[in-house]
Amino acid sequence: MTEPAPQAEIRLQGIGVSPGIVWGPAEILGKALEEPEKTNIQRSEVDAEKARISLALVATRDQIVELQRQIASDEGEDHASIFDAHLLLLEDSTVLNEVLRLCETKLIAIECAYFSVMKRYVDSLRKIADPYLRERAVDIEDVAGRVLKNLKWTEPSAGSEISESDASVILAHDLTPSSTIGLDRSKVRGFATEVGSATSHTAIMARSLGIPAVVALHQIPEDCDRSENILIDGYSGLVIVNPSPETLVDYEKLLEEEKDILSDLELFKGQPTITSDGNQIILSANIEFLDELKAVAERGAEGVGLYRTEFFYMSEKELRSEENQAQNYRTVAEATSPDGVIIRTLDIGGDKLYPELREDPEPNPFLGWRGIRLSLDRTEEFRIQLRAILRASVHGKVRVMFPFISSLEEIQAAKEQIEISKQELQEVGIPFDENIEVGAMIEIPSAVLVADHLAKEVDFFSIGTNDLIQYTTAVDRINDRVANLYQPMHPAVIGMIRETVEAAHRNNIWCGVCGEAAGDLTMTPIWVGLGVDELSVGSVQLLKTRKAISLLSSKECAELMKKLQHCGTEETVKRHCLDIASAAYPELLY
Ligand code: PEP
Ligand code: MG
Repeated sequence: MTEPAPQAEIRLQGIGVSPGIVWGPAEILGKALEEPEKTNIQRSEVDAEKARISLALVATRDQIVELQRQIASDEGEDHASIFDAHLLLLEDSTVLNEVLRLCETKLIAIECAYFSVMKRYVDSLRKIADPYLRERAVDIEDVAGRVLKNLKWTEPSAGSEISESDASVILAHDLTPSSTIGLDRSKVRGFATEVGSATSHTAIMARSLGIPAVVALHQIPEDCDRSENILIDGYSGLVIVNPSPETLVDYEKLLEEEKDILSDLELFKGQPTITSDGNQIILSANIEFLDELKAVAERGAEGVGLYRTEFFYMSEKELRSEENQAQNYRTVAEATSPDGVIIRTLDIGGDKLYPELREDPEPNPFLGWRGIRLSLDRTEEFRIQLRAILRASVHGKVRVMFPFISSLEEIQAAKEQIEISKQELQEVGIPFDENIEVGAMIEIPSAVLVADHLAKEVDFFSIGTNDLIQYTTAVDRINDRVANLYQPMHPAVIGMIRETVEAAHRNNIWCGVCGEAAGDLTMTPIWVGLGVDELSVGSVQLLKTRKAISLLSSKECAELMKKLQHCGTEETVKRHCLDIASAAYPELLY
């Protein structure tokens, strides 16, 4: 008798969006919206069909509200508010009237009418260039899937389909933000999707929930089923179907090493961040939601170097009041005292739009009405935020920073708004820090080229590498088709960064880095070599970055920067950096 041939190992490369290594049986989730079987009805049945949809809508509403309640208590209000848009969609009377009309005029079952209307909305959203609107198609699919399920056309949601007994690795075409946030961590080890980008809501949720994840796999093999073992490497973005025994042994070793590395890193908690030859760098953390503050403190951050306020702001309209914002910023100020927080004013636009803006999409949102441009066109709204930040400034060390600065005039106009806001508070006797520090994000090439002028207007720069790379190399940061061209170490990007740091220091202000590259350990020798004053990184990268810095010498890294001036390709820049990084901390580089 011949032995059955072992199943072949298949390696799929995607984008790792949430770190960690896991494996387990595959759980394949269907597409969110599947067409119900065509069913005709009699005219006499129309009223009964209308009653069925009413009941299904009520049931769906109850389920979403319950899910929202659970998530608010487990994960915090910020996470739960993602469902507000879903509830609005569910209650949209235009949609419901269309469904009822279709059922009545075509005499088809209500689920067929509902599917047909929702599918049309999803398809038209998918054709829109704006990535934020495209992503809303996923929300509609999510809500519609729930309604269809309640109409008995079962389309399981991520949580319910997974068997209790064996925690699985989810493979799906796409996961909606609500399915992601609703994932039960005792049943789900990790997930991988065919589509998606590192900046989608789904990726953000996976990171904050600590679920290893890979997106943009393009195609999951069609014959994949539960008998398959799936390995997810959220660091490298690799997904391995049926990993061979040898591969599993390699990954087991990696997991052991990861454990040792993490326990070693404990030593770096609560320590300053100092190079081997005695130069100190401030190491702070990036946050989007208040409930990240605990992890940030536990992991030993020296304050928050970037608070992206737009996520909180966009989540619910009521939260935008001055009072609510002031309370929110005060919480961060108190939690980060005495190190402090850099509160970035709204960076709405690009892929981050609130409902009012979604109705009027731009042809090229990343080159459009974004960040400070929007704030300066809506000064009433801008000053509500500035007053709230000023009010929080007496409760800790608060700095304010403006995103998407492209010219001197913009920084001057933004500062003028701070002055007016200060006067407004003075008039009503509300205290604030008169000397609040003001910074500019440097993330657009034109800002780099006028950096000497900008530096005379502000107290600090913070380099936003995510956007600086995208705008310097003309590569959309959320388009996985050109992901290979998105090169953090492109010599032109390094030139932009060098010029920014030098301009800051020439003008006696400090310069930090807060894009993802700040926590890229291959680039740490660059930050040390340039003498940047602060790095603000995602909280999972904090202790690794601190350890890496402690193993580098500023002198050696300054020599590296001289060599990099002669490099013409990203590959050579990377090679020089890796020579240093892999000699100093090989164990941290996986
Ligand atoms: C950046 O552009 O690097 C940055 C930190 O800001 P955001 O990612 O929010 O655009
Ligand atoms: Mg940016």
